[in-house]
Amino acid sequence: MSKQTVRICHLYPDLLNLYGDRGNIICLRQRLAWRGIEAEVIEVPVGTKADLTQCDMIFIGGGQDFEQEVLLPDLRSGKDRELKAAIEDGKTILAICGGYQMLGSYYETWDGVRCDFIHAIDYYTVGSKKRMIGNFAFECLPESGGSKVVGFENHSGKTYLGSGVQPLGKILTGGGNNGEDGGEGVRYHNVFGTYSHGPILPKNSELCDFILQTALSDRMELEPLDDSAERMAHDAMLKKITQGS
Ligand code: GLN
Repeated sequence: MSKQTVRICHLYPDLLNLYGDRGNIICLRQRLAWRGIEAEVIEVPVGTKADLTQCDMIFIGGGQDFEQEVLLPDLRSGKDRELKAAIEDGKTILAICGGYQMLGSYYETWDGVRCDFIHAIDYYTVGSKKRMIGNFAFECLPESGGSKVVGFENHSGKTYLGSGVQPLGKILTGGGNNGEDGGEGVRYHNVFGTYSHGPILPKNSELCDFILQTALSDRMELEPLDDSAERMAHDAMLKKITQGS
């Protein structure tokens, strides 16, 4: 692989792509291109195989309860073991909503269907009849860069992290993991799990570069970009969400 090509594995692009989650791939590709770095995106739909060890990072979007159930047989045909190994090996993964839930132990829908997931990280999700819906904001913990993130959530699932597992951030406004403990998402090794659609990366360039740099830490140092327009849009949205103006 050339030093200037970054390989991104897009897992289940056919099933997990809610609210423009695919825009995260476009954003990663563009922010790399602005630095003269090429991105090779390897799409891994249901029924196909991929060698996760060959990519720099993995992206998994969100999906409804139905899609999460549909992909279970494929997940169990080997991708579960591959994903677990990649996570323990320190692979950088960004996983959104349904994709985030999938890396935990299970998701029990509000009407009692249980999706047994991959048990890679100690958390579980239970569905509630009352969905958490709307624009929301959170502040990443310092180990995940400390930036303030704006996004959009729409989930029935309430996620509860195990006692040794850290969230990605703390809620500023909105529901996040469960609407109860103030946590949002997960950070485990180099896994960034979040309920934030949006898509999250174009709206939050600081977090995007933090995740990219995590993925590329032993290959290259990313040059800063002129993000003045992105920052203005981000700051205006953050103000609107947190202060209502
Ligand atoms: N189906 C899951 C839930 O409602 C995830 C939804 C999503 O990815 N937005 O909790």
